[in-house]
Amino acid sequence: MATNRTFTMIKPDAVQNGHMGNIINDILKAGFSIRAMKYTKLSTDQAKEFYAVHAERPFYGELVEYMTSGTIVAAILEKENAVQSFRDLIGSTDPAEAAEGTIRKNYAESKAKNAVHGSDSDENAAIEGAFHFSPEEIH
Ligand code: UDP
Ligand code: MG
Repeated sequence: MATNRTFTMIKPDAVQNGHMGNIINDILKAGFSIRAMKYTKLSTDQAKEFYAVHAERPFYGELVEYMTSGTIVAAILEKENAVQSFRDLIGSTDPAEAAEGTIRKNYAESKAKNAVHGSDSDENAAIEGAFHFSPEEIH
């Protein structure tokens, strides 16, 4: 995957709270184009693998439970400097600390239920995109 791409998930809280359309609209308005998108649900094994880097953290069990609690939207997004630009758009992990106008500030419930995922590096964007999409599903 090219380094002008990032990977996102609209998380279960945001889908359940009816924010899916507004979040996709914010992403498009910010100049990202969608290269792949899927309305889906993570299995426990998938969530454990996706967040394996956090396996030793105290919130890991709750994170896996939360991420499998409902449907998500997974997507590959493209824009110049996509990873950093998308992290700027979503804001800090904890919505209480997120800047005004960011997606997490506007739509997240809490630090755990924080509305969206955004890859933290080009390398992880490629790994995470490939975790959810086959090459034929990326356009
Ligand atoms: N998380 C949590 N409690 C914490 C930190 C993180 O429940 O104290 C959850 C939250 O959903 C977060 C995810 O674990 O988005 C991954 O954490 P990370 O530190 O990678 O934050 P992010 O990169 O998503 O901002
Ligand atoms: Mg992270």
